[in-house]
Amino acid sequence: MISIVIPVYNEELILPKLLDRIKSSMQEMDQAYEIIFVDDGSRDRTLEILHEQRTAETRIKIIEFSRNFGHQAAITAGLEHASGEFIALMDSDLQDPPELLPLMYEKLKDGRFDVVNGFRDARKDDKRRRWMTKLFHRIFTEASGLSQIENTGHFSMINRQALDALLTMKEKTRYIPGLRSYIGFRQTSISYERQERASGESKMSLTDLFGLAADAVFSFSKFPLRACLWLGLTGVFIFLLAGIHVLVSKITGWAPLGWSSTMISIYFLGSIQLTFLGVLGEYIYRTYKESQDRPIYFIRKKYF
Ligand code: UDP
Ligand code: MG
Repeated sequence: MISIVIPVYNEELILPKLLDRIKSSMQEMDQAYEIIFVDDGSRDRTLEILHEQRTAETRIKIIEFSRNFGHQAAITAGLEHASGEFIALMDSDLQDPPELLPLMYEKLKDGRFDVVNGFRDARKDDKRRRWMTKLFHRIFTEASGLSQIENTGHFSMINRQALDALLTMKEKTRYIPGLRSYIGFRQTSISYERQERASGESKMSLTDLFGLAADAVFSFSKFPLRACLWLGLTGVFIFLLAGIHVLVSKITGWAPLGWSSTMISIYFLGSIQLTFLGVLGEYIYRTYKESQDRPIYFIRKKYF
């Protein structure tokens, strides 16, 4: 069986179209499947529509969250409840074409691969998002040392063994594409063109995206700490030279230097120290969240 995990948040406009396209794509495969919708605290008619659809289509399963916990939490819940031998992950807005599911399954079914990532070789969504994502992927790949990340998002299909590995990682700040790359196994990808949202607007605000990027970088690498260390050492070296300069001026009885140099050093040191404190704060915050050990989400009701 194939489980298709789909997080939904205020997607009332898209659901019928999404289901139609999934159904017709799955038909050509002749494989049993279930669709697990995780309703991430939607405020529109999303849940109602899911229930309507479920009366006609028993393969639909619904997890209703107690409130909005975010994309990553919703995906995690869906993955934890999937019972299939193969598990697909996709967004609900048809940016990820369901027609790719049979091709992904094709790569996994004979056991040659364990993970198929959707590789976005072209994107139709908005320009600003595109270069921001590109920049993020660059930084993340450099910082984490993980391969398989550039140009891959959530759209993917993995087998049970890979899923079990993924689910052993219980961390609270989750970046699923990073975790999926981290587990290793035999990974491959399928290129596709990322479409524009079928309708509605992106449910991720700029702050959400920035937060996700920060979570990804800080939880997968010590690069920020390393960068601080190097910057700090460079600073020490520069101020050592400056110190020698001051000492020499003093000994040779030079006129004292003006305040510009003093002010520049203060600003420079001050801003470096603040940045470093911020970076330390990010790691401490994450350690704190882990030690609180709160559940990632709460479920109000399950319809299975
Ligand atoms: N989503 C969610 N919870 C949220 C935000 C988004 O479950 O708090 C879902 C949303 O319904 C969609 C997927 O996550 O199925 C990706 O969201 P979106 O398309 O808004 O993000 P983008 O494609 O703009 O990154
Ligand atoms: Mg989207």
